[in-house]
Amino acid sequence: MMQTGDRGLSEEQRMMRDACRAFVDDYVAPFIRDHWQREWLMTPEERLPSSILEQADRIGVRTLGIPEEFGGTPIEAAEEVQTFAIIAEEIARGDSGLADKLVQIWKVSVLLRNVASRNLQEAWFPRIVADPAFLLAHCLTEPRGASDRWLPYNVPEAAMNTKAELRGDRWIINGRKQFISNGYDAKLFVVYANTDPRAGMLQGTSSFLVPRETQGLTIQRCNETMGGRFMNNGEIVFEDMAVPEDHLLVKGDALSKAGVYFRPGKIIQAAKNLGVGVSAFEKTAEYVQNYVQGGRILIKHQAVALRVADMATRIAAVRAILREASAAVDANAADADALCNMAKLFASEEIFKVAQHAMELHGGNGVMLDFGVEKLLRDAAIFLHMDGTTDVSKFKIVKALFRETAGAYAGPET
Ligand SMILES: Cc1cc2nc3c(=O)[nH]c(=O)nc-3n(C[C@H](O)[C@H](O)[C@H](O)COP(=O)(O)OP(=O)(O)OC[C@H]3O[C@@H](n4cnc5c(N)ncnc54)[C@H](O)[C@@H]3O)c2cc1C
Repeated sequence: MMQTGDRGLSEEQRMMRDACRAFVDDYVAPFIRDHWQREWLMTPEERLPSSILEQADRIGVRTLGIPEEFGGTPIEAAEEVQTFAIIAEEIARGDSGLADKLVQIWKVSVLLRNVASRNLQEAWFPRIVADPAFLLAHCLTEPRGASDRWLPYNVPEAAMNTKAELRGDRWIINGRKQFISNGYDAKLFVVYANTDPRAGMLQGTSSFLVPRETQGLTIQRCNETMGGRFMNNGEIVFEDMAVPEDHLLVKGDALSKAGVYFRPGKIIQAAKNLGVGVSAFEKTAEYVQNYVQGGRILIKHQAVALRVADMATRIAAVRAILREASAAVDANAADADALCNMAKLFASEEIFKVAQHAMELHGGNGVMLDFGVEKLLRDAAIFLHMDGTTDVSKFKIVKALFRETAGAYAGPET
């Protein structure tokens, strides 16, 4: 398993991966093992000690995606997404929620690098770099719109319910966003809103940069998720929230411009998912070679051995599609869109199965909270929903492959 993970890595990638591996082995894994109750604290801000984010900051994995001139961690541009994948996997091997927290910084920073004005970049990137507790969030999903936005049904009735209107030199935003990663504790939000109710969502959606302290922004609650619990997912309400005119990021075609966020995003998603699978495999490999049942260590029982082989094969297959897809995104290849959706979808279904095997092979221990294996199944389950459901991801794949025929499902027949 270790060899496939190493194959083809550049010197830079190997060094970053090793620094990250030491961080996970020395800080993250012992914390999760010794403080397994912490994820269940109902005061979200107390779940993860700040020392973990501070250590992530020290080794440079917090500020990937931020341009070097503003203090971000430099990585080889031609392999940026492949490097994101390697690091995201490694962090998620330690904890999926911690990885969620950090990767939002990378993903939103890539977006800001592409669509924010120079002034906004100068104002915000240094602040993100200076503060190890600075988190970012990307707010699209609403109570009556998520999956359909990704297809998308480009008709006015499917548009965002969150609305932005220009009054004088301020954009006035009203609406609500749900299920937002880091939504509870981010200091800076990218918010999507409808700016043209007569247009379809591809022409009528704009994006805005919104600091947490903006008047009219309320963090309504932290969602208590079944997995990835160290990332605080939140609900946000905007009531006559006034955003300065220059905080508009993209006018009208913000959803199309978000491709720079979503392609690396899907790769990172699949990579975190892979990390959860690798952790399940490592724990299981250790267990079945030490735990004795029926007078033999478990792996000597053939039914157990077969399951271990199944786990290893699924993990290797996910790694292979992830490599292919992340290289395609870095190369801006024509099939990158389809491949990154395939990687995200495939990883979510395969690693869920890997985590199920892990739980079953641990027998009764597999369902005990303090043993730490059931957590992997809970973490794996989240990936089936995050960044688009599996069914909608399949729609996106077929649309990317057959634009003309599979392109439109809603509205008049064409
Ligand atoms: C942990 C977590 C973190 C998240 N982080 C973010 C974030 O940072 N930012 C953000 O904007 N969103 C975020 N989301 C939201 C996520 O993208 C949505 O949950 C996801 O897109 C599904 O949308 P939904 O929950 O509204 O489900 P729904 O859209 O209500 O789907 C319910 C079911 O119906 C199916 N369905 C819905 N519409 C269609 C259709 N048109 N055709 C066929 N089937 C359909 C779906 O496949 C699914 O099975 C997060 C979600 C989770 C769980």
